[in-house]
Amino acid sequence: MDEIVRYTYRLRPGVQATRTLEAEWHRCRFLWNEAVHQQRSGSRPTFVRLSKMLTEIRSRTPWLREGSQVAQQQTLRTYAAALDRSFKVKGTRRPKVKSRKTSLPSMEYTTRGFTVRDGRLRLPNKVSIPVVWSRKLPSPPTSVRVFKDSLGHWYASFVTRRPLSPAASATGSIGIDWGVATTATTTNPAFDLAYPGHRHRCAAELARAQRKMARRRGPRGQAASRGYIVARREAARLHKKAARQNTHAARVWARAVVANHHTIAVEDFKPRFLARSTMAKKAADAAIGAAKRELIERGTRAARRVVLVPPAFTTMTCASCSARAKQRLALGERIFRCEHCGHTADRDRNAARVILATVELDRVSGDDVRHCSPPPLGACGAVRAGNPATSVLGRAKTSPSTECER
Ligand SMILES: [Zn+2]
Repeated sequence: MDEIVRYTYRLRPGVQATRTLEAEWHRCRFLWNEAVHQQRSGSRPTFVRLSKMLTEIRSRTPWLREGSQVAQQQTLRTYAAALDRSFKVKGTRRPKVKSRKTSLPSMEYTTRGFTVRDGRLRLPNKVSIPVVWSRKLPSPPTSVRVFKDSLGHWYASFVTRRPLSPAASATGSIGIDWGVATTATTTNPAFDLAYPGHRHRCAAELARAQRKMARRRGPRGQAASRGYIVARREAARLHKKAARQNTHAARVWARAVVANHHTIAVEDFKPRFLARSTMAKKAADAAIGAAKRELIERGTRAARRVVLVPPAFTTMTCASCSARAKQRLALGERIFRCEHCGHTADRDRNAARVILATVELDRVSGDDVRHCSPPPLGACGAVRAGNPATSVLGRAKTSPSTECER
C-alpha cells in the first residue's frame, strides 16, 4: 500500500524566472479576487461555474492568455474548495481578497503543467528552475505547489506516493494536556514537552527590528524605502527562525511519543481560547498548534489510536476518584486538590490523567481524529489519505470534530 505525501524542496530561480513566476501569481491572484467578488455579490461560485468564467475571460483578455491555464484553473479549484469548506465547517471564514502588497505567491501545477527534467523544475512560459534536491523523490510527482515565503525564498512542494512503512508496534498509552508553562504535560513526565521559549528569546531582537520598521515607514501611498524593506526582512527572518525551532522541537517530541505509545489521548485544545487572553504571546510561543499537528499526523500515519478529547472539565475532575469539583480552578492555581478523596497532584498532570482515563474507559465522547473532514487540498490532507484503519471509539455525542487542524 502507498501513502500520499508532500516533499518540499528549495528552489533557486534566476531573475528572469522570478519575474515570470511573479507575473503568473498576479494573474492567478486576479482570478481569485474575481471569484471573491462574485461570491460577495450574492452568487455562490462553484468550480464548474468558475471554469466557464475562466474560459470566457481568457478568450477576451490577452494578458491572462499569456499565463498558464493549469495554474489559473488550480487557483480557482483551490478557491472553490476553500469556499466550500467555509460553508461546511463552522468557524471557518470565507476566502478573502489577496492583495498585491501582502499576499505571497503560491501556484499549483498538475502533471499537465510541469515536468522535472535534468534536476530542474520546468513550468509553462519556458521557466526552468534549479531545485535543491535535499533528498530523493520516492516516485514521480503528481502535482507541485510553487510558493514564496516571507523571506523571499522559493519552494516547490511535490505531491508524491511512497510505500507505506509499517511502524513498530507499541503498547503503552499516554494522555496529553496542553499548557503555557509546559507546552505538553503528559501522564508520563519523561514525555513532557518543555516550554521552548524560542520566540521569547528573540523578543528583544524582534522588537528592535519592528521599531526600525516603524521608523523607516514612509508616508502612505509611497513605495517602501530600501531601509524599510531591509528592516522588514530582518523581522521576518527572526519570526521564521523561531517558527522553525518550534517545529523542530515538536517533531522530535512527537516522534518519541508515537514510537512508544499505542493509545494517544490528546486534549482538543483550541488555540483561539488563549489567543484572546493576555497570554497570547506566550501561547503562540509555546507552539501548541505545531506540536498538536505533528502529533496527530505522525500518530495517524503510524496507525496509532489517536483520540481528541474535548477539554471541558478536564481540570476540574479528579484523576483518582473521578469526582468533579464544583468550581473551576483559577489559571494561577497550579495544584489540584480533590475535595472528595483528598488526592493532590500537579494541575496539568491531573488533567492529562483525566484525558487518558476518558479514552481508556470510553467515558465521554472522544472524537477519533479520523472523523475529521480532510482539509481540501492542503499538505495534511495529502498525508492523511493513506491512513490504515484505527479503532473507532463509540461516539455518543458527535460534536463537530472538524477542528483538529486548528
Ligand atoms: Zn478524588
